[in-house]
Amino acid sequence: MAVSAGVDRKLSQPVQAIKGIGERRAELLHRQGIQTIEDLLTYFPRKYLDRTKIDRIAHLKLGEEVTAIGQVVSFRTVGGRRPRFVLVLRDDTGELKCVWFQGAHYMKNAFRIGEWLAVHGKVRFFNGLQMAHPEYDRLSEGRDDRMLHTGKIIPLYPGTSDLSEAGLDSRGFRRLIWQVLNDFSPGIEENLPDFILEKYRFINRRAALNQVHFPESGEQLQAAVRRLKYEELFYLQLMLALRKAWRKRQKKGIQFERIGERTRGLISGLPFQLTDEQRKVLREIWHDMRSAFPMNRLLQGDVGSGKTVVALTAMLIAVENGYQAALMAPTEILAEQHYLTFRQMLNGLGVRVELLIRGARPAERRERLRRIAEGETDLVIGTHALIQEDVVFHKLGLVVVDEQHRFGVLQRAGLRMKGQNPDVLVMTATPIPRTLALSLYGDLDVSVLREKPAGRQPVRTVWRYASKRPEIYEFVRSEVEKGRQAYIVFPLVEESEKLDLQAAKESYEKLRETTFSGIPVALLHGRMSPEEKESIMRKFKEGHYRVLVSTTVIEVGIDVPNATIMVIEHAERFGLSQLHQLRGRVGRGSERSYCILIAEPPIGATARKRLATLASQHDGFAIAEMDLKLRGPGEFFGVKQHGLPRLKIANIVEDYIILEKAREDAFEIVRNDPALSGKKVQNVRRYFLEHYKERYLLGSVG
Ligand code: ADP
Ligand code: MG
Repeated sequence: MAVSAGVDRKLSQPVQAIKGIGERRAELLHRQGIQTIEDLLTYFPRKYLDRTKIDRIAHLKLGEEVTAIGQVVSFRTVGGRRPRFVLVLRDDTGELKCVWFQGAHYMKNAFRIGEWLAVHGKVRFFNGLQMAHPEYDRLSEGRDDRMLHTGKIIPLYPGTSDLSEAGLDSRGFRRLIWQVLNDFSPGIEENLPDFILEKYRFINRRAALNQVHFPESGEQLQAAVRRLKYEELFYLQLMLALRKAWRKRQKKGIQFERIGERTRGLISGLPFQLTDEQRKVLREIWHDMRSAFPMNRLLQGDVGSGKTVVALTAMLIAVENGYQAALMAPTEILAEQHYLTFRQMLNGLGVRVELLIRGARPAERRERLRRIAEGETDLVIGTHALIQEDVVFHKLGLVVVDEQHRFGVLQRAGLRMKGQNPDVLVMTATPIPRTLALSLYGDLDVSVLREKPAGRQPVRTVWRYASKRPEIYEFVRSEVEKGRQAYIVFPLVEESEKLDLQAAKESYEKLRETTFSGIPVALLHGRMSPEEKESIMRKFKEGHYRVLVSTTVIEVGIDVPNATIMVIEHAERFGLSQLHQLRGRVGRGSERSYCILIAEPPIGATARKRLATLASQHDGFAIAEMDLKLRGPGEFFGVKQHGLPRLKIANIVEDYIILEKAREDAFEIVRNDPALSGKKVQNVRRYFLEHYKERYLLGSVG
């Protein structure tokens, strides 16, 4: 296809620059995150149809998953109480009947006689060859499109019903991208340095983008995918490397100078010995605190691994060097819990601790704010209330954020801004596999508490069918009568929220009147006001309630050592990491604890695997790795909140080896040339500024 001279081929142009894309289609593309020509060229096929692997209809193997291509010769709805839709495909060897038992109404307008379809599914013999509910893709391109008939490998694009209606189904995309490649290929510039291309023998970007959409062969496709995955991961890592370098260049951090008597007093006064890992993490933190650049460290530790005392020690070091320290927790009950723990641990050490949450009387609040502003307070514990405008610190030197994924980037930045480049420690109880951590936290320094304090008994975990429910609740009752407390958790998923809530309420009523009659039971769910929730949690913590029935709102981090039983209803519906987090609510004291998973059949193979894994495995990191394998990174617990950019072609788990290479290369480039000013990396610099600048800046404040 000829391109007329003088056409602007820049990929940064909006999609409207493409012939045939008007307001309506542009709007639909925007909804898919496609704004520019570049976005369109990186809208990658979801899979490919390899014509060389397609069987002729007469040769299809019965009972196997196969792909066939044919022309539509007829279709009709066959009546009856449950109408089905029957479509017949033909190639030059025979005919294949495709049957849909649902959606007949919609299907009848979906096809045209004479168009080409690729269908995928299992073939059976039933009055001729038949495929039930095949996956299908429309292939016909119209007469003037050659690529379908010449290419051996056909790209299939992800789509939505909106897009399909606007002519942008898989076939429509194929046509559009074919046209865009024809018109704009000359505008595709290389964005990797020459030495990288040589090192890995990558094909250039223009070739890669052409081949990934319309591959000439399987090998070409592989080469294109390999290069594009590297490219994507390289830029992600480059962003992290630049952020880290930027932080370290700002040599304006506080240099804490000494560890004093009070810190030693705190550690020697603890009712337990710090574990080796807690000591190691404290050394890492101390190393950062005494250095000249601002600390930016993530402390990852499984539930119950003892992060709190580590945080408190770091805060006390700040205080002993003449600074204030603040800890921000996601809820009032957690803030209050930390406050009480700190008060207890700091008893007799002359450290002034303040709690800052909502709800204090105005006069009282003013007085607290005054003490903080004038430096009469050493440690401040609070919720978001800490970042309100009227909170002014006298000299804030260390900021700790607990359960950091519960806060947004701006909230974390807000607390940091209360001091002059204070050191920052963020903590999370969501163990992240190393693979993910490299991408999520590649710009932070990471400390890990992997083992639990000694003497902690693993929570005895079993899974049972729902038919065993009566015995299970009898057991719970007998434990409660011995003085223990129990959690009973019901799932609550968005799609079925009302029904789920109702199920939880009904069970609560029933349990209260039958099994647990005479025992104080409370119900907790997400529709309650924060005050109501807090008050119920508090009464449970204080032992007034013995059994807490709840949807999944029980706080991560809540510490009720006397609660030793966790029953999880419909456990088959929970994710693995989520189950592990819930289990972490028990097993926090010296008594033996139990986690009983009740599963309602039918239980699928993956769910079964999850339940069995939880029963046998207690290491949060191992569980996280398994979860990642079972679900893939997109769905992985907590990843959304971590702000990982959506990857278009690479997969953090499967492409781990490429990820490590890309990371090494990116970090080395930044180490040698943090401003990317060298000639060899000018194209990298340009591409980065155009595509990653905003995200980079956002990350630099958080
Ligand atoms: P998390 O890491 O989930 O925040 P916490 O800091 O709340 O865990 O610790 C859980 C419990 O373990 C607390 O009751 C705490 O006092 C206790 N703990 C912390 N460190 C040790 C230790 N080295 N030995 C024994 N118990 C410890
Ligand atoms: Mg905690």
